[in-house]
Amino acid sequence: MRIDRYLANMGQGSRQEVRALLKQKVVTVNGQVVKQAGQQVTPTDLVAVAGRPLAYTPFGYYLLNKPAGVLTATIDPHEATVLELLAPTLPHYRELAPVGRLDRDTTGLLLITNDGQLAHRLLQPKYHVAKRYLATVSGLVQPELSAIFAQGVKLSDFTTQPAQLEILAVDTEKKQSTVALTIAEGKYHQVKRMLTAFDHPVLQLQRQSFGPLTLPADLSSGAYRELTAAELVALQ
Ligand code: URA
Repeated sequence: MRIDRYLANMGQGSRQEVRALLKQKVVTVNGQVVKQAGQQVTPTDLVAVAGRPLAYTPFGYYLLNKPAGVLTATIDPHEATVLELLAPTLPHYRELAPVGRLDRDTTGLLLITNDGQLAHRLLQPKYHVAKRYLATVSGLVQPELSAIFAQGVKLSDFTTQPAQLEILAVDTEKKQSTVALTIAEGKYHQVKRMLTAFDHPVLQLQRQSFGPLTLPADLSSGAYRELTAAELVALQ
């Protein structure tokens, strides 16, 4: 790959900014100063900027605590997107994309990566990646609903896989309930549709887990962090 692309991918700035670095003669490849933007490098070359070696990583993996009011998209002409919550200086920033989607008003765990193969696999229905959602719903959820959800719910266009419904709290005064729903697919508006089908419109929805990934309690709304090595292994 060209050195200017390599540097931009590694978060050293835009193509224009990294060309300025090259002109300043602060970039070395295997100890030799490189000035040409078109110079080819491979992942095994030792690239340094101002004497600081860069560790080449082909992929970036980030776990975002998505806030409400933000689109699960990379760019949008009118609205804020989840990518805008990430620092543009992150390695591979321009290639990063969310894995699956959360509705604009849904909060919680969203995986963002440029590892297209992993993303593709995690989204394939045959892998049944479990997703757990915490939902505040209108109405008093009855215990029988858990058994119904465990059979799968027939919606207008498909029947869901068996789903686990836990009733966490029922507030008779507010006429609201808090439930945790774990589903194996990720069809459009699935959680909202399943609960609304039983007259429990969703008032608030948060994704708490995605496969082996769990929303960290100390990750505030709108914040993100890199996946740990253990999380990455668990996803493979
Ligand atoms: N199900 C929904 O209805 N909305 C989401 O954002 C995610 C799952």
